[in-house]
Amino acid sequence: MIKTENLVKEYNEKKAVDNLNLEVGDGEVFGFLGPNGAGKSTTILMLTGMIEPTSGNCTIQGVNVALNPLKGKEILGYLPEDVGFYKNLTGYENLDYLGKFYPLTKSEREERIEILLKSVRLNDVPQKVGEYSRGMNQRLGLALALLNDPKVVILDEPTANLDPEGVLRYREIIKKLEKEGKTVLICSHILSEVRAVCTTLGIISQGTLVARGSVEEVEDEL
Ligand code: ADP
Ligand code: ADP
Repeated sequence: MIKTENLVKEYNEKKAVDNLNLEVGDGEVFGFLGPNGAGKSTTILMLTGMIEPTSGNCTIQGVNVALNPLKGKEILGYLPEDVGFYKNLTGYENLDYLGKFYPLTKSEREERIEILLKSVRLNDVPQKVGEYSRGMNQRLGLALALLNDPKVVILDEPTANLDPEGVLRYREIIKKLEKEGKTVLICSHILSEVRAVCTTLGIISQGTLVARGSVEEVEDEL
């Protein structure tokens, strides 16, 4: 499960995240919805251990990822808003190189890369990533986030750069993750996008959770 307790992040004495208490249970596909500037990315950066909270706590499967990055890499897949890849390598070569940091054998790694590139429709693409469109880059990012078959997946605005077909593909992938029992947190500012794939929903405004429940329950409150 994903858990934050009294989580606070201040930038220049202004609270970007303000006493956030959030729990996402095992197997939940949770939409983390809020307007731009609400504190979604800041929350995710703390969960993934990229920035330190001002106060409070956050854990993934009981692990504080900032304090235990190796364990974090085992259990968590993360798609940032803008993924940086090696521009002079192909998609396959990027995943193969980055995959070496995961506890997978060479043949496991190669097999997973083939499957994932197919699922994001980037198999047999000979271009180097520097020649990718933003949509292709984001699709490759999703493949990377799933490379280690993580139990928990955190996606930051995963459809921001996708074309309509890419969005449909992405939704199929999320449905599959749900069937596999993964815990998924999807950050978005678009309700329809969250509604398409999530079973539960939380609304963050000015750094705090203002609503939480099933998609239907929360929609009724809006
Ligand atoms: P969201 O992801 O919901 O759009 P963010 O977490 O990016 O929101 O931002 C929350 C607030 O924190 C905003 O007011 C934003 O301007 C501020 N903020 C985010 N990152 C920084 C930073 N590195 N320095 C200063 N302020 C920041
Ligand atoms: P955007 O999201 O910027 O519209 P796309 O991801 O849809 O970009 O892809 C942009 C271009 O890359 C399209 O012209 C498409 O033909 C090409 N492209 C996308 N995926 C593949 C693929 N798997 N193999 C070959 N070309 C692709």
